[in-house]
Amino acid sequence: MPELPFAHDALAPAISAQTVEIHYGRHTRTYLDNLNALLPGSKYEGRPLEDIVTEATEAPFLNNAGQLLNHTLYFAALRPAREDNAPTGALLSAIERDFGTFVEFRAAFEKAGATLFGSGWVWLSADDAGRLHITQEPNAANPLQRGLRPLLTFDVWEHAYYLDYQNRRPAHLAALWPLVDWDVVAARFAESVTA
Ligand code: MN
Repeated sequence: MPELPFAHDALAPAISAQTVEIHYGRHTRTYLDNLNALLPGSKYEGRPLEDIVTEATEAPFLNNAGQLLNHTLYFAALRPAREDNAPTGALLSAIERDFGTFVEFRAAFEKAGATLFGSGWVWLSADDAGRLHITQEPNAANPLQRGLRPLLTFDVWEHAYYLDYQNRRPAHLAALWPLVDWDVVAARFAESVTA
């Protein structure tokens, strides 16, 4: 369980210190502990997390490995808020090619997150041709399971926002853009097009 590279209050007010402590320190930690308890003696022992997520069919492995990977990708692409936070370079070009403008992309991503029924994740991913896709993934699902490479995700489980926004999921999603670490997302995109 790596330490987060920012203070627990560094994402406030969009994500409060209390939410970071509970969401990372307890929810994410529990998925890790659960998976570590399942692995010894199983066919997934020693396997990369991504492989477990794409290959497992048993719910306990699928759910705990999926949630560990999803939360790892989520928290690793957050950083303290920046004004005028936006992607650049090849990633921005791909966003403009596939969604029109960065503003239109954000609106589509927020809408996908807001309209996902129940718990889950909204994702930006790349396919093998480098095209970008927004998908809704329920519960512990990950775009890897449909052959896409995950780039960016917002968590729409209620535990991600309920302490700070209660039922206002769309307001929470809209408040996350200043926190996105586009350097991390761009690095994932670069890796996806060369892999
Ligand atoms: Mn979560």
